[in-house]
Amino acid sequence: MTVPTLMLGIKGPSEPHCYLGGSMVDQVNALISARRHRADFFRSDLFADPAWDILLDLTRAKLEGRRVSTSSVAAAVPQTTALRWIDMLADEGLLEKLRDPIDARRVFVTLTESATASMKEYLVSGSSHRFAIGGRCKRCGSADFVAPDNAIDESWITCDGCGQDIMTWKAFKTGALEVANAAFTKRLEIEP
Ligand SMILES: [Zn+2]
Repeated sequence: MTVPTLMLGIKGPSEPHCYLGGSMVDQVNALISARRHRADFFRSDLFADPAWDILLDLTRAKLEGRRVSTSSVAAAVPQTTALRWIDMLADEGLLEKLRDPIDARRVFVTLTESATASMKEYLVSGSSHRFAIGGRCKRCGSADFVAPDNAIDESWITCDGCGQDIMTWKAFKTGALEVANAAFTKRLEIEP
């Protein structure tokens, strides 16, 4: 597999933290922290999106095998708002509420199987972007390639012309880093 000859200037995934982690939990954590990070700069109520905050939080809990009670879901969402959205999302078939058999006042909430499947699909595929990597597809000659916006190490970069798998995101990152390092080292060399 040839290493891409050009990486500088490529439009990266829209949430740049996303592809640094290899696992799905890392990816969800990155999405959550990117949203929190925004609140350091702007009033967070400008971007209120409680349904998504709740889905992300419950996805993380599911991937980590943790149970979450309705009173501790999505720290970023005010509790009364969270409870209202939990009911709406449950009506949509995305969440299930389970009463704690030991403490009847406590209710756990979890993603349904279909919501879990959709979230996993979202994390693996997501939307994609086209870019050029300074080479052409051997099969069809296209110079355009496609990578998912939420690429993880195992995601494939494919040919935009024929759909051929070109290389994994991990292989691309490694290659791109080598090229960038070489260019950087060259700049650091002292002029004679
Ligand atoms: Zn092709």
